[in-house]
Amino acid sequence: MTQKFDVVVIGAGPGGYVAAIKAAQLGLKTACIEKYQDKEGKTALGGTCLNVGCIPSKALLDSSWKYYEAKDHFAIHGIEAKGLTIDVPAMISRKSNIVKNLTGGVATLFKANGVTLLEGHGKLLAGKQVEVTGSDGKTQIIDAENVILASGSKPIDIPPAPIDQDVIVDSTGALEFQSVPKKLGVIGAGVIGLELGSVWARLGAEVTVLEALDKFLPAADEQIAKEALKTFTKQGLNIRLGARVTGSEVKKKQVTVNFTDAEGEQKIVFDKLIVAVGRRPVTTDLLASDSGVDMDERGYIFVNDQCATSVPGVYAVGDVVRGAMLAHKASEEGVMVAERIAGHKAQINYDLIPSVIYTHPEIAWVGKTEQQLKTEGVAVNVGTFPFAASGRAMAANDTGGLVKVIADATTDRVLGVHVIGPSAAELVQQGAIGMEFGTSAEDLGMMVFSHPTLSEALHEAALAVNGQAIHIANRKKR
Ligand code: FAD
Ligand code: AMP
Repeated sequence: MTQKFDVVVIGAGPGGYVAAIKAAQLGLKTACIEKYQDKEGKTALGGTCLNVGCIPSKALLDSSWKYYEAKDHFAIHGIEAKGLTIDVPAMISRKSNIVKNLTGGVATLFKANGVTLLEGHGKLLAGKQVEVTGSDGKTQIIDAENVILASGSKPIDIPPAPIDQDVIVDSTGALEFQSVPKKLGVIGAGVIGLELGSVWARLGAEVTVLEALDKFLPAADEQIAKEALKTFTKQGLNIRLGARVTGSEVKKKQVTVNFTDAEGEQKIVFDKLIVAVGRRPVTTDLLASDSGVDMDERGYIFVNDQCATSVPGVYAVGDVVRGAMLAHKASEEGVMVAERIAGHKAQINYDLIPSVIYTHPEIAWVGKTEQQLKTEGVAVNVGTFPFAASGRAMAANDTGGLVKVIADATTDRVLGVHVIGPSAAELVQQGAIGMEFGTSAEDLGMMVFSHPTLSEALHEAALAVNGQAIHIANRKKR
């Protein structure tokens, strides 16, 4: 007899696995289908995020930062670190152990919550039936009251630089280098390119980032992006804007990359090249031709604000649908859909999804940028506070960057919080919490912040919005 589930989820990334756990917690009979296998040929849950994305990249960023600090920053504390070396295979294997731990953790959570794991490739058929094909080629058909498509995304490859996962790699390959490349090229100065470029630059690679656009980090607040470019350049990252890669040739374990910039045709030889030009939705063999699910013109599954597709009872979440390709966006969509299937009211405030770039300094923001608000014709007051004036940042010898709070000039409501500096990701979340509750800059300024903390920079920036900062000269007097 055909098995029947209340909810069948295709894909066990942060969108899918969180949706499955939530649905099961809400009393729905739930199955989750996943096809990804690790190097040992075992099904691994957690999707891009846990296996080849957020977590492994952060593990390498943390390891490489420790090395960089020991090499370049310990001396100021009076600590001598002579004969420092980096064992790259050990660093990579630490990363792999963390991944294993976490993906195994998801499997445990499935068991604890009663989610049925179906290993194989899932395909939505007409009438909310789902076909599951195992790695042995055997298929089974299951019936679903509701289906959640959470098939995620994969790296975009470009003809001028075909991936061989040896000399020319994508983000997955860049997490597996067994030694530090002497000369590393990165195509794309987006989040992934900057993070992975930073890892290998900190370990001693000479890194050149080739970015086709003339503008650096166009989605970030312009003031923050300017500060970031200045800092990364000072750190030794050679970021070449307006540089479009047109071709490449691999010879003797090196790659010659051709690109054009304002000065004409150029070429550089690298030992490794990371292609980080963005990601695209995964929909290969996901939908039968008569499934009835519509796609948008860019190849994403078309959904409304509640992640419902064109077929009643079929939903899609995460990287396979419109919006930022972020794990926390995917997982919150997963929760929202599970809640709605269970008959609860749920929605996401898409205006308050924080963005983070885990370089050093970190860059993070929530809400709108100053240039966005200007375009929209919203009059604003802006307060900034540099970490150079923060006692805690000085104590940590980490004084680069600033906090910027943007508030509506009429209502004082906070419309954006932007941070470049130490622990920016954690700091910006405080702004996000305040903004969710409609905080004004004055509210933030009236709150008591522990001393000495980096968070005080947020406090001071909020005070500065209305010319009331204490620890910096105010631009605007009351
Ligand atoms: P995915 O995580 O891609 O998961 C989809 C899953 O579905 C996969 O396991 C896939 O095998 C499976 N699947 C696909 N089709 C089928 C099918 N037909 N049948 C069965 N299974 C199927 N985001 C952040 O928020 N913070 C970060 O710091 C961050 N860092 C990143 C660093 C890197 C290097 C990369 C590459 C990404 C990073 N991201 C980060 C992005 C984040 O990983 C994604 O936004 C997130 O994983 C999307 O979740 P998802 O569930 O939509 O899809
Ligand atoms: P993101 O989408 O944030 O991951 O960023 C990818 C970046 O790669 C974008 O800023 C693109 O402009 C850039 N990019 C795409 N194709 C090329 C190319 N051929 N040469 C250089 N940069 C590119």
